[in-house]
Amino acid sequence: MKKCLSLCTLLTALVGFTPSLLSAELVDIQSFIPQIQVDLKYATSDNFTGQVVYDFTHCLVHKDAAVKLVHVQEELEGMGLGLKIWDGFRPMAAQWKFWELVPDERYVSNPRKGGRHTRGTAVDITLITKDGKELLMPSAFDDFSEKAHRNYRETSNEAIQNRELLEKVMEKHGFIGFPSEWWHFDLIGWENYPPVE
Ligand SMILES: [Zn+2]
Repeated sequence: MKKCLSLCTLLTALVGFTPSLLSAELVDIQSFIPQIQVDLKYATSDNFTGQVVYDFTHCLVHKDAAVKLVHVQEELEGMGLGLKIWDGFRPMAAQWKFWELVPDERYVSNPRKGGRHTRGTAVDITLITKDGKELLMPSAFDDFSEKAHRNYRETSNEAIQNRELLEKVMEKHGFIGFPSEWWHFDLIGWENYPPVE
């Protein structure tokens, strides 16, 4: 028991995360895509809750999602673009907090069903130029209105084209977009991955 405890402590100290997160094959997205821009909104108070929701600052995703995002980034770089990520893995406690604030499955997945970000297979992302500027999109991140829906068309052609480009490249490389949030994509087969405890 003592041996296990010290090993666990060592692992936690080395990587800053608990061994259970490691065993679920969560990886730091920047170890796969160093050039991805990471802006974890829930690690700061700059999000719809107005609070710091989780205490880690590295963006974690499941390894299977990271491998596919490498291809997305490569294709975008060929167009002079890249990815910016706002959220990847989210602990179950954070999912419950969101659900208490927004109990609406169009915008927050139900933690009773396991959630989506809790598996490490979901990402909230947008497109940036090679200078790091966000491309125009139909709404801001976490706009819980119709403007965030993928079929929303009461906006400029430029915003629609950017939303569709992101969707096209993500779908080509193994993700599926969530209908009511243009920024949210799930790895195909996400429901087969267990939530990380
Ligand atoms: Zn999301």
